[in-house]
Amino acid sequence: MSQDSRTAAAGKPLVLAVSRLMPLYMGPLAERYEVLDRLHETDPAAFAAAAPRVRAVAASGESKLPAALVAQLSALEIVSVMGVGYDGVDVPACKAKGAVVTHTPDVLNDDVADLALGLMLAAARQLPAADRHVRSGDWAAKGPMPLARKMSGARCGIVGMGRIGKAIATRAAAFGMPIAYTARSAKGDLPYRYFPSAEALAAESDFLVVITPGGAGTKHLIDAKVLRALGKKGILVNVARGSVVDEAALIAALEQGVIGGAGLDVFANEPHVPERLRALPHVVLAPHIGSATTSTRQAMADLALANLAAHFAGQPLKTPVPECR
Ligand code: NAP
Repeated sequence: MSQDSRTAAAGKPLVLAVSRLMPLYMGPLAERYEVLDRLHETDPAAFAAAAPRVRAVAASGESKLPAALVAQLSALEIVSVMGVGYDGVDVPACKAKGAVVTHTPDVLNDDVADLALGLMLAAARQLPAADRHVRSGDWAAKGPMPLARKMSGARCGIVGMGRIGKAIATRAAAFGMPIAYTARSAKGDLPYRYFPSAEALAAESDFLVVITPGGAGTKHLIDAKVLRALGKKGILVNVARGSVVDEAALIAALEQGVIGGAGLDVFANEPHVPERLRALPHVVLAPHIGSATTSTRQAMADLALANLAAHFAGQPLKTPVPECR
């Protein structure tokens, strides 16, 4: 940093952007704070010198903030995640330092639920293959496509009945789909059937939609047994986190016809998607775009910035994560 920019930033709290942030978040952040943009990755020595002055971390839903990095941030007060999922943040390590973690729930429910329904329809009706069929000239040369499967009226199982799960249920109900779900606990206020496990739910579902948080508590919740229970006509949709599905088991199940198809927005090792998965014709793939519309990303950035502003103004936080409430 030049002497000029150091002077200009004097008096502003020092913020570490822990991963590449969208301009919608990074732009206003850099105007309001002194920002170290991924300095821990690009210049560890300079970062080590600045780290004791870092008061805030700005992150996205996919960012990693492990305990080892938190340990370097002795003055850390707040971590503001632009995203509802914060499985990459070591929340106990932050709390042990007296720092709070905030995220951006609710403002992205519509987009993620819309995408889940889009992936269900795309996988059931084979929309990417249909598009290729027309573009390639196969329609004229070879005739119609094989028949697809009907979505309206089919059974929809939802794994995770939180904010986004409920938005998916409302939309699926509009397709005349009977709704069932699993979660850590049954929701007495909802009219949907509860199953105590993903396997039991899968056995009674035509579409299984996964929308839990990531992290240790849900790792490989969807495993080979769940996929077997879903069955050879069943379609798996994952808009949660790649870690929730055992990806090797999913690839094997798709290759062997154990399940009928899949629609996936998230993967185990993003942005790398295994070649075997990319080669499967009955899988619809999206590059983690659940909340990726202009208006929703703006609302997420606004909320992430509002949490930082509230903290530094000594006001109540807008949306702390449950562990920090
Ligand atoms: P939420 O309101 O906290 O809901 C999470 C749901 O998952 C709750 O119903 C919870 O059960 C359930 N759950 C948690 N652990 C479970 C377990 N071990 N087994 C079964 N169910 C479990 O969260 P949300 O706002 O709906 O967001 C959910 C997740 O979606 C986020 O954490 C994020 O990972 C993902 N997401 C993805 C995208 C994308 O771009 N694809 C975008 C936004 C969010 P209880 O209700 O019983 O506690």
